[in-house]
Amino acid sequence: MAAAVALADCGIPVTVFESAQQLGGRARGVMYNDTQLDNGQHLLLGCYVQTLNLIEKVGGNIDKDFLRLPLQLDLHGEFSLKAPRLPAPLHLLVALLSAQGLTWNERLNASRFMLTLRRMNFRLINDITATELLAQHKQDTALVQKLWEPLCIAALNTPIHKASAQVLLNVLRDALNQSRDYSDMLLPRIDFTSLFPQRAANYVEQHGGKVNISCSVEALRPLEDGIEITTVQSSEKFSHAICAAPPVVAARLLRPIAASQNHGALAETVAQIDSLEHQPIYTVYLQYPASVTLPHPMLGLHQRYSQWLFDKGRITGQHGLLAAVISTEGIHLELSQDELAQKVIIELHEEFGIAGQPAWFKVIAEKRATFCCSPNLERPSQLTPLPRLLLAGDYTAGDYPATLEGAVMSGLKCADVISA
Ligand SMILES: Cc1cc2nc3c(=O)[nH]c(=O)nc-3n(C[C@H](O)[C@H](O)[C@H](O)COP(=O)(O)OP(=O)(O)OC[C@H]3O[C@@H](n4cnc5c(N)ncnc54)[C@H](O)[C@@H]3O)c2cc1C
Repeated sequence: MAAAVALADCGIPVTVFESAQQLGGRARGVMYNDTQLDNGQHLLLGCYVQTLNLIEKVGGNIDKDFLRLPLQLDLHGEFSLKAPRLPAPLHLLVALLSAQGLTWNERLNASRFMLTLRRMNFRLINDITATELLAQHKQDTALVQKLWEPLCIAALNTPIHKASAQVLLNVLRDALNQSRDYSDMLLPRIDFTSLFPQRAANYVEQHGGKVNISCSVEALRPLEDGIEITTVQSSEKFSHAICAAPPVVAARLLRPIAASQNHGALAETVAQIDSLEHQPIYTVYLQYPASVTLPHPMLGLHQRYSQWLFDKGRITGQHGLLAAVISTEGIHLELSQDELAQKVIIELHEEFGIAGQPAWFKVIAEKRATFCCSPNLERPSQLTPLPRLLLAGDYTAGDYPATLEGAVMSGLKCADVISA
C-alpha cells in the first residue's frame, strides 16, 4: 500500500490485488466477539518516520491515532527505565544511569556500552549475534535479561542468540541516538486496517487507482513490454508489477518464471527467499470486567510466558481488555492455545492480583510473523533480475528488521524506481 500511495501521488494509475477479504496483511484488524482486535498488538517507534508520514498523507492524525509514550521499559517489579525529557542521547544516558532494578555497576556498564556504540557509529566490521556482542561488551546476565534481551526480541522478533547484532544496532541508532522523540513508543488507538491500509486504499482510488480485495494473484508472466498478472478472476497486462506478498508467496510466484525461462539470477532470488527462516508471534487477548486495569498502558514481565502486556482500556478505551504478547520461538510453542491462555491468566493473577477467569480469551498465533533476523542475512533486493518486476515487503533488503517501517521503506523504494 505504501508503493501504491507513492505511485498514485505521481499520477501513475495503480491497481492493487489483495488475496484476503480485508487489507492489512500481518498488521490488520480482526473482529472477535463484537470486539475490535488486531492480529497482534503493534507498536511503532518515533523513528518510523516514513510510516508515520504516510499515515498522515492518507488522512491520519498521529496525535489522535496513537497514544504516544516517552521511551520506557517496565518489567513489572523487576526493572524500570524511563527517559526524561532531555535531548538525545542524554535522555538515554540519564535513563540508564537511573534505571531501577540494576546494580550501580550494571547501570554504568550499560551506559558505557551505549557510548562505545556511538563512537563506533553503530557499525560493526563483522556482523555477529547479539549474544556475542553483549558478551564482548561485558553486559552481565541481569543486564541482558532485563534490558537487552527484551529490547532485542521486541525490535527483531528473534532470540538474542540468533539475532543480528548489526540490525539491532541499526534500530538502536535510529531509536535512541537521534532526536528524542524518535525513541517515543506509539500505540495505535484504532485497529490496523483502519489506521493505514483502508485509508491508503481510499487515497489510491481517489487518485485514479483500483484496489481489488479477495483477488489472489495466481501467476506473473513477464512480457517484452510489461507483466501479465493472472488473478483468480482474470488476466491483465501492466507496465510493471510490484510483488508485495509475504516471502513464501513471493517465492511461489517467482519460481515458475525462473524455471520456465531458465533464469539463473531469478532462481538465486527465489533461493534467497526460500532460505529465510521465520519466527512466530502469539497474542493472547483477554476480556476482563471493565474495572480491571494494569498499572501502565504497556509493561513487561520478567521470565514469564507473557513478555509484554497491553492495557487496551488505557490505549483504545476498550476497558478490561488486556493483550499479552509472546514473541519468537520458545517453550510456549509446546502448549495448546487454551493452555497458553491459562498460563497468562495465572500470571495476571500472580503479578497483579487479577482474580477469576476472563469472560473470554482469544489466542492469535502468527506462526510466520516475521523472518528470523540472523547475522549476515542476505535479503533479496527490491530490484529483481527482471526489470519490470519488483519486490516489496519487510523481508527485502534494508537496514531494518521485519517491521512496518521496513515494509514501508521497501514499497517506497519500488515506487521510486518505477516513477523515476
Ligand atoms: C503479531 C505481529 C506483531 C507485530 N508487531 C509489530 C510491531 O509491533 N511493530 C512493527 O513495526 N512490526 C510488527 N510486526 C511486523 C509487521 O506487521 C510486518 O513487518 C509488516 O506488516 C509486513 O508488511 P508486508 O507488507 O511486508 O507484508 P504483509 O503484511 O504480509 O502483506 C502481504 C499482503 O499480501 C497479501 N497476499 C498474499 N498472497 C497474495 C496473493 N497471492 N495475491 C494477492 N495478495 C496476496 C496478504 O494477504 C497481505 O495482505 C508484527 C507482525 C505480527 C504478525
